[in-house]
Amino acid sequence: MPGFEMFGALERAEVQEVLDSGVLMRYGFDGMRNNCWKARELEEAMAARMQTKFAHTVSSGTAALTVAMASAGIGVGDEVIIPTFTFVASFEAVLALGAIPVLADIDDTLCLNPQTVEKQITDKTKAIMPVHMCGSMADLKPLKMLCDKHKLILIEDACQAIGGSYDGKPLGSYGDLGCFSFDYVKTITCGEGGGIITDNHSYYKNADHYSDHGHDHVGKDRGAESHPFLGYNYRISELNAAVGVAQIKRLDDFLKVQQKNYSLLEASLADIEGITFRKVPETGVQNYSFLNFFLPSEDLARRAHKALLTAGVDACFYWYDNNWHYYRKWEHLTGPKSLGPLSDQVTQRISEQTRSGFSASDHWMGRTISCLVKLSWSREEVNRRASLMQKVLREILIKV
Ligand SMILES: *Cc1c(COP(=O)(O)O)cnc(C)c1O
Repeated sequence: MPGFEMFGALERAEVQEVLDSGVLMRYGFDGMRNNCWKARELEEAMAARMQTKFAHTVSSGTAALTVAMASAGIGVGDEVIIPTFTFVASFEAVLALGAIPVLADIDDTLCLNPQTVEKQITDKTKAIMPVHMCGSMADLKPLKMLCDKHKLILIEDACQAIGGSYDGKPLGSYGDLGCFSFDYVKTITCGEGGGIITDNHSYYKNADHYSDHGHDHVGKDRGAESHPFLGYNYRISELNAAVGVAQIKRLDDFLKVQQKNYSLLEASLADIEGITFRKVPETGVQNYSFLNFFLPSEDLARRAHKALLTAGVDACFYWYDNNWHYYRKWEHLTGPKSLGPLSDQVTQRISEQTRSGFSASDHWMGRTISCLVKLSWSREEVNRRASLMQKVLREILIKV
């Protein structure tokens, strides 16, 4: 997944252009900047690639989620349904708005299970936010139907799955709003950065204003603009956006390499009895940033994970024990160590949920191993990993 592996002349040239212009801020300074507008350029490229009417860039993926929700009017006391397996940022973004994250189980897609979502809907629910983890997606059609039925907003957290598609549409463009991260470890990177895509003009305008202290961006003179509503600073800088302008041009080349490396690794495990692969919804195409597979039990998965690392297959993850990707280890977010001023209403609602547990999610997560697919591997390196993985997993499963 990492765009950080692939830096070159294109990125340098874009950044140099910004440095030469002398204007590092994305808004204003029209006369000084020699017509250099990198954030705008990145937004145009994003909207074109993702086939949406609008795109807006911000300072991070977490900011993208926060701004996207704010732009759709989500705020204090509203509930947003998110999966138990996510990056903690989706949870944080909901909390940052004073809203309440409500967890729902995942299934063998490793993403939100549409069948468990409906029972989590209350009269406070405003949005459903599937998170397309590790390069592949939730089954979006039934989620969209639920949103239509209950008048909810569908927000896709596509931070880890840029370039994938569902039902012929780029991930992020299927819902009302889609969010991307361009942090340093994502498929394409700005260093730090994030993006929001939508076809909804008012969400887009709200996002543009909210991420810049509520500035209305109507005048040429920044000092003369008005602030129709309160916002915050989630702006991307021109330097970061410049890196993104270069990276988004290379996205489809990156995806091809990822897919090739992924396919070689997958093929090496395909015949091993006991290994099954993460389900990809029928009309979905993943972005191949991780190879995700299941072992027959939690015990075997733990042993296999350890054995893979010992054998020198690095960048393989056992998320079940991870304390920023899976709800099971999230006590620190709401417990006494939390720095954020969370209301009693929020902490109570969250601890109710985590106390009752999510056995279906535990079932899948306990057995899942995810191996990062890198872009910079030589053919020899991919083959080395493929045969090591095959050997290690065969040994573990033969002993059963
Ligand atoms: C990386 C990530 C984010 C947050 O992105 P940042 O740019 O690091 O703030 C949100 N959701 C998911 C699923 C992510 O992987």
